[in-house]
Amino acid sequence: MEQTKRLNLGSLAMDYYYPWSNPPDRTKYNQAAKVGIDLDEEISESRTLRRIDAVLYSSSTIPLLLHWSDGTNLKEVDRKVAEGSSTPKDFEGAIVGQELTTKCSVCGTDFLIVRFDTVPVLDSSSSGESQERYRRHKFVENCPSCGSRWLPSVLEVISQVAPPTTRNFA
Ligand SMILES: [Zn+2]
Repeated sequence: MEQTKRLNLGSLAMDYYYPWSNPPDRTKYNQAAKVGIDLDEEISESRTLRRIDAVLYSSSTIPLLLHWSDGTNLKEVDRKVAEGSSTPKDFEGAIVGQELTTKCSVCGTDFLIVRFDTVPVLDSSSSGESQERYRRHKFVENCPSCGSRWLPSVLEVISQVAPPTTRNFA
C-alpha cells in the first residue's frame, strides 16, 4: 500500500500520511514519545487527525498534523488522496497543528495537545483564506481537568500526561 502522497494546496507542499502509513522516525520532534504516548496509534484510530510533513524549499521536511473539527469523514479523505482525486474542498475544515506538551496555568495539569501552527501547507499566505479557516475552526475552550478557560490555540487534547494520573480524552 502507498505510504504517502505529495499534495500541493498552499505555499508549501505537504506529504500526506494515511492511518496505515509508517511515518519515518520523529524522535527529534516527538513530544508524544517523550511522555510515553504512541501518537501513531492514536492517529490510526482518529477521526480528527492525520500526519503530514511540510516540504520546505530545501526539500527538508517538518512533521506536522492536520486537524479537522467539522466532522469531515477522514476515511473518505484518505480514499480520495490515495486515488489522486482529492480537492482543496476536502481540506477546507482542516488546520495545521503540532503535538506539544503543555501545562494548564490554573491547575498545573500536564497535557499532550495538538496546538495550531501557521506553516502554510493549506493556503497561500497572500489569499487571506487562513483567517477564515481559524474563524471556522472549533478549538478546545476549557481545561479538561479544571474547566478554566483556555486561549483559542488548542485543537485537541490527546491525553493527560502523568503524573498525577494518565487518562485518555479521545
Ligand atoms: Zn486546568
